[in-house]
Amino acid sequence: MSEALQRNIEKAKGFLERFRGAPLGHYINGRDERGASTEVFENLSPIDGSPLCKVVGGSDADVDAAARAAKTAFAGWRKSDGKTRRALLHRVADLIEARSEEIALIECLDTGQALRFMSKAAERGAENFRFFADRAPDAADGLALPAAEHLNYTVREPLGPVAVITPWNTPFMLSTWKIAPALAAGCTVVHKPAEWSPLTAMLLAEIVTEAGVPPGVINLVNGIGERTGRALTEHPDIRATAFIGESRTGSLIMSQGAPTLKRVHLELGGKNPVIVFADADLDRALDAVVFMIYSLNGERCTSSSRLLLQRSIHDEFIERIAGRMRRLKVGHPLDPATEVGPLIHARHLEKVLGYLQVARDEGAEIRCGGRRVEGLAGHYVEPTLLTGARSSMRIAQEEIFGPVLTVLPFDDEADALRIANDVRYGLTAYIWTESAGRALRMAHGVEAGMVWVNSENNRHLPTPFGGVKASGIGRDGGDYSFEFYMETKNICLAHGTHRVPRLGG
Ligand code: NAD
Repeated sequence: MSEALQRNIEKAKGFLERFRGAPLGHYINGRDERGASTEVFENLSPIDGSPLCKVVGGSDADVDAAARAAKTAFAGWRKSDGKTRRALLHRVADLIEARSEEIALIECLDTGQALRFMSKAAERGAENFRFFADRAPDAADGLALPAAEHLNYTVREPLGPVAVITPWNTPFMLSTWKIAPALAAGCTVVHKPAEWSPLTAMLLAEIVTEAGVPPGVINLVNGIGERTGRALTEHPDIRATAFIGESRTGSLIMSQGAPTLKRVHLELGGKNPVIVFADADLDRALDAVVFMIYSLNGERCTSSSRLLLQRSIHDEFIERIAGRMRRLKVGHPLDPATEVGPLIHARHLEKVLGYLQVARDEGAEIRCGGRRVEGLAGHYVEPTLLTGARSSMRIAQEEIFGPVLTVLPFDDEADALRIANDVRYGLTAYIWTESAGRALRMAHGVEAGMVWVNSENNRHLPTPFGGVKASGIGRDGGDYSFEFYMETKNICLAHGTHRVPRLGG
């Protein structure tokens, strides 16, 4: 064991200490709350399966208390000056940065994500807060729409208390991505983090309150999705649900929210193509292909899990990927050298291993990996490369959400486009070619919410983030986030000159 790993394990244990003992509860109205529920579940380590902590499963009464706190706090927070919100949210970012090591180490222990990526979790989270903080003063701005004898103008008003429901893959970053714009807009929040990785959500709720954001503006209820999450999406005081998770859950969120007419924003799964043409800069394409499927353990909605390779470069490019894969470092997430860590949970490991069996049954070739990692106790699966696949196979259609890449050969542009669009998902697409015309034709033809040309997923916060088809509804980022968290109101003032219709004389 390297010295750095040993040091990180010791530090992480220190940070984890506070979560031992009493079960992790909720955070309601600025306070840690055990809540009314008697249900408790175990949060297990992805690294060795040992218990990390116990967690309270929120009851209907707990959800109700959180929603009521958010409703009460909304009355004041909605009226707060945008400049005040800007200052407070910058303070949140400062505090996130001050606790960046704690956030990173806890996130690794809770999710199995490698420290080399999670060391930036706090930085990315703080950046989200700063970005939306700076937009808070202008969030209410609207349009002037003058008519002949009237002036119409629009303003935006915060929607109300909103639910934020997040998944387990990169929970801290994703929570800040939803919560920062909600707070900047003047909404209050009830957050329900994923049951497999609840820890950093509690750190975030504490930090927001410590920064001076009034109690009740951010609330957190822990619990199982089908129960606590469901109760939240059905609560009449909650005006909208901002959800990140599986497509199947997204449909449930819509139907659960229908009776109370909730606005929904869904960021869902993907089976994203990376399309490499023979004329591409193949060295750069190789780096991006390997990075976009094997980083974050492949547990990434934007991962390029389908590699579409032009037939003339197929064999050679696969050789080069295989060469890289032999050197990928699978190991303890707290080891700074680790590139691939363990999967989040035994059930998820089972799912990913199940797909490797499906690959065998469907007749694909397992070119690299394909098994559980021997000699490591946790949920480690070998980075895997599947070749000889056809687009109709389940390994080319379904989201595996692990370090598994399915390769599909193509002949020409039309063939590439047909294969790329032959899935129910449409989150991202990555196109590699040196021809500008081809890049444009492909980018416009591919069914995806986001397209990168000659790049891996490279985020710029003002740009819209979201998917089409089964990958989601709605966009985040820049002003798009405010469109979701705010209502547009039109106000029409008369010049006093127009003829008002007269009835009855
Ligand atoms: P999931 O859908 O199982 O769970 C997500 C959250 O929803 C959890 O907090 C869970 O407790 C809750 N939940 C589950 N059932 C619910 C219900 N009936 N009502 C209310 N809440 C409920 O997803 P997951 O397995 O945690 O995350 C992985 C998925 O998330 C993948 O499909 C991945 O692609 C997707 N994801 C998408 C994006 C994106 O931006 N598009 C980002 C990250 C992850």
